[in-house]
Amino acid sequence: MADYQAPLRDIRFVLNEVFDAPSLWASLPKVAEHVDPETADAILEEAGKIASGVLAPLNREGDEEGSHWNDGEVTAPEGFKEAYQTIVEGGWNGLGGNPDFGGMGMPKTLVAQFEEMMQGANMAFGLAPMLTAGACLALDAHGSQELKEKYLPNMYSGVWSGAMDLTEPHAGTDLGIIRTKAEPNADGSFSVTGTKIFITWGEHDMAENIIHLVLAKLPDAPKGPKGISLFLVPKFLVNEDGSLGERNAFSCGSIEKKMGIKGSATCVMNFDGAKGWLVGEENKGLAAMFTMMNYERLGVGIQGIGAAEASLQSAREYALDRIQSRAPTGAQQPEKAADPIIVHPDVRRMLLTMKSYVEGGRAFSTYVAQWLDIAKFAEDDDRRRHAEGMVALLTPVAKAFLTDRGLEACIFGQQVFGGHGFIREWGQEQLVRDCRITQIYEGTNGIQALDLMGRKVVGSQGKLYELFAHDVASFLESNQDNAALKPFLEPLAAAVERLDDVTEHVLAQAGDNPDAVGAASVDYLDLFGYTALAYMWARIAGAAAKQAEGDSSGFYTGKLKTARFYYERLLPKTVSLAEGIRSGSGSLMALAAGEF
Ligand SMILES: Cc1cc2nc3c(=O)[nH]c(=O)nc-3n(C[C@H](O)[C@H](O)[C@H](O)COP(=O)(O)OP(=O)(O)OC[C@H]3O[C@@H](n4cnc5c(N)ncnc54)[C@H](O)[C@@H]3O)c2cc1C
Repeated sequence: MADYQAPLRDIRFVLNEVFDAPSLWASLPKVAEHVDPETADAILEEAGKIASGVLAPLNREGDEEGSHWNDGEVTAPEGFKEAYQTIVEGGWNGLGGNPDFGGMGMPKTLVAQFEEMMQGANMAFGLAPMLTAGACLALDAHGSQELKEKYLPNMYSGVWSGAMDLTEPHAGTDLGIIRTKAEPNADGSFSVTGTKIFITWGEHDMAENIIHLVLAKLPDAPKGPKGISLFLVPKFLVNEDGSLGERNAFSCGSIEKKMGIKGSATCVMNFDGAKGWLVGEENKGLAAMFTMMNYERLGVGIQGIGAAEASLQSAREYALDRIQSRAPTGAQQPEKAADPIIVHPDVRRMLLTMKSYVEGGRAFSTYVAQWLDIAKFAEDDDRRRHAEGMVALLTPVAKAFLTDRGLEACIFGQQVFGGHGFIREWGQEQLVRDCRITQIYEGTNGIQALDLMGRKVVGSQGKLYELFAHDVASFLESNQDNAALKPFLEPLAAAVERLDDVTEHVLAQAGDNPDAVGAASVDYLDLFGYTALAYMWARIAGAAAKQAEGDSSGFYTGKLKTARFYYERLLPKTVSLAEGIRSGSGSLMALAAGEF
């Protein structure tokens, strides 16, 4: 397996040349206070060193060793604790955090790049900083001043980590039926009782304290999602002076044996009258948790790209090295017994598909991050509201499309290795196993598709969709005389028109047929994702064309050729997706349960 190298060249291209992030940062005064291009570049450089030099070397051993459970205590795989210390020393947990409480105030467009490198290097480890940053975000947005002052500084520094406790044995997707209870105490705190399962890094030895954000129900809470509240429940109670007090009344009952991300501990957490504090308003816990979940959902999409990038790096190297058969056009390296497999069209198809998803996906996650930055930092209300709409619309696409394509890319990477891809030694099988969870947690990809189609598109009567369609339309208009983009503009316009038509079709069906949304949703999300990636590849091509002449490195010319591949070989998938969606729900619902 090739050693993971942080893809800094491409990250800089996406940030600076495709999106001109420095101009965005300069337009947002609260961001401009903290970041300029030189600072950003230094952060990327350092993040790359940590990813390649500290986290990647622990990836395989972490997978082989796994986390250990012993009588309620969890020990992370060897080396993880020291690596976590590196994250603490660099303040990486607080990179995007609120500076009022010790965060660094960096924009998401930059933080997303750090996340990609960390996840690409070691996903099992990367979950700990990712969940901590997400917990901080929810606490910062919804917690009382007192809670923020008490917990955020140590969470941003990473001395304390965060965990997210939603899932129960009988309640995963449907959180409305959770049973964990919170009883009010006389001192304003609550006693939390119940069992949570699948809690990532819910217990471990890397941080001094673990701050759990737990969903629970107050006595007499309304039934369903409207009766859920959010509580902060620390592993160790925190004294008035900030020192750690007694251990709280909850423990880790066991950790799961699982398919991938084995280095991370997936914990059963038993709360037995544990002391907790309400975050936000009573019965509004799900909304508060969504602040965290939206952040995590883009983060999970980024995990998909990170894994796919690692797989691509390794597959590319292997395809250049492995010799097998001759090129169909005749021997390319006659001095050798056979040609390197990169000469074969099918191997190229796999590598180019991976490259299309990874580099287009990196641009897409940066595009979504850009809207997150505007939504959070813009001073103008209209600009902020517009960006909030974009974030709402694009988040489920980023989570599901990037993880579905991420796994597809990892499987292609494995396939490039032939039988060796199935063998442990080369690392491809671990990437496939690790990446698989990204389609499942943080809301399965099926649920993301329902969110996109049902809540965002149909729920807004198409208004949120129009924000995206207008953005592409203004790109098309402002580039109509750009000769370099000629091959892309027409097919992009056609793809958006197809998406427009299908959106209208589903909007029309949704009123009459209760199954219409569920029947269309996954294909619709894919149709949306392939169209959005076409938009990204047009923007990438536009930026690359400016530098392509005389490009001896092949970086820019490679971009233009990959854009062509994407448009000719992958974008046409939208035609069949649209046709499938138009067939409606009939064939899906025709079978009686017994006929399965
Ligand atoms: C390794 C790992 C780490 C995790 N980390 C965490 C964590 O840190 N914190 C946490 O709280 N949870 C965590 N989870 C839980 C994870 O988020 C849930 O497993 C996931 O949300 C799905 O819930 P479920 O497993 O109960 O599946 P179910 O909800 O039972 O769903 C089963 C299937 O039915 C489908 N389905 C359900 N409802 C609908 C519907 N209305 N329409 C269409 N399809 C539907 C689902 O898409 C899925 O395919 C983790 C899970 C794993 C495996």
